[in-house]
Amino acid sequence: MSEREGSSGIRRREFLQRGVAATLSLSLPGRVAAARSPEVRQHRRLGRTELSISDISFGSSRNIDPKIVEHALDRGINYFDTAEGYRGGAAEEAIGEALRGGKRDKVYLASKVRAGVRARAEDLMHALEESLRRLRTDRIDVYFNHAVNDTQRLDNPEWYEFARRAKEHGKIRFTGISGHGGRLAECLRHALEADLVDVILVAYNFGQDPKFYERFTRRFDLVAVQPELPALLEKARAKDVGVVAMKTLMGARLNDMRPYEHGESTFAQAAFRWVLSNPNVDALIVSMTRSDQIDEYLRASGSGPVRQSDLGLLERYAARNASAYCRFGCNACAESCPHDVPISEVLRTRMYAADYGDHAYAREDYAKLGAGASACETCAHQSCLGSCPYGLEISELTRSAHRLLANG
Ligand code: SF4
Ligand code: SF4
Repeated sequence: MSEREGSSGIRRREFLQRGVAATLSLSLPGRVAAARSPEVRQHRRLGRTELSISDISFGSSRNIDPKIVEHALDRGINYFDTAEGYRGGAAEEAIGEALRGGKRDKVYLASKVRAGVRARAEDLMHALEESLRRLRTDRIDVYFNHAVNDTQRLDNPEWYEFARRAKEHGKIRFTGISGHGGRLAECLRHALEADLVDVILVAYNFGQDPKFYERFTRRFDLVAVQPELPALLEKARAKDVGVVAMKTLMGARLNDMRPYEHGESTFAQAAFRWVLSNPNVDALIVSMTRSDQIDEYLRASGSGPVRQSDLGLLERYAARNASAYCRFGCNACAESCPHDVPISEVLRTRMYAADYGDHAYAREDYAKLGAGASACETCAHQSCLGSCPYGLEISELTRSAHRLLANG
């Protein structure tokens, strides 16, 4: 390897691998270079499900407006991800409303339920029936066990009994797990080795990718959080399990980057290209709440491999936000708090407010954390300080999260 390759730019082999993988899977290769209209320009096979889904797909966690869903439909998005708990069911209702009039058969729907260690099959079936009612459909294509961060949840036989019956009655077609917690890698390994899933929905972005930090090793005194994650995605590919990435924008502080978007791409488009250039990722979902935002995002659809200009944007973003961004899948600080504050979860809800600007969603999510970070208000010893390998000032961030998000 040349000096140049090793120090500036993605290593050539990696760069080519990413580019080739993305290019090979283009459904309409001739249009890529020329077409600039904001529409889906690439569909990808979602592993063994054989579903052919838009490379950039609809995340509904923060949307309750059917018109936004309609805009996504008009732009060619055909995979809509939701969950029973998003906005108290209103996210599912918005999708169901937008799909009235025969549009259901043109799209794939994914939804989720949080099936705990002691969840019972009949309760899961009830939750599914409610999702079907809100979505105005008789089937969900991919049904996820939501936010799994404990392998015991994967061993609950009631989930499998429920899934068997639901499939038998045509109410779901495929199952999977979603995750973004500190034990994500452990859960993925368990699910893949025991062949428990058709699809995985995982938090994955450039800021978590060891290849990114290798690329900028001179600028960041950091290591990647989850060195196992890329290997697990590869394992999923080997087992033909579909892989959908989420949380791809590393906090989505898009406005921070506007002054630097002078070239042909925006930061979001660069971040999407990074994720979609990974040959072991089938597609990504991203939270969509505005029409202009959907158009911006879709300009990255089918746009090929990571570009040199993308790397500058990603590097700048990481440099600006690294000290406040809590990495998904990291739990290095977990044992540092004697009061059992769920630090990474508190900081994830803080991100929804501080980075996405969505205070309502952040409060809703924070309320699910029980006492949350209330202990931080009176914590004298702050033993969490210094436990974050990324230098996050944990107590400061958790306290501000609590003040911002507690009590409505
Ligand atoms: S400030 Fe105290 S209570 Fe809060 S996370 Fe740190 S150690 Fe835990
Ligand atoms: S605060 Fe730091 S150590 Fe804790 S989960 Fe986030 S990134 Fe990891």
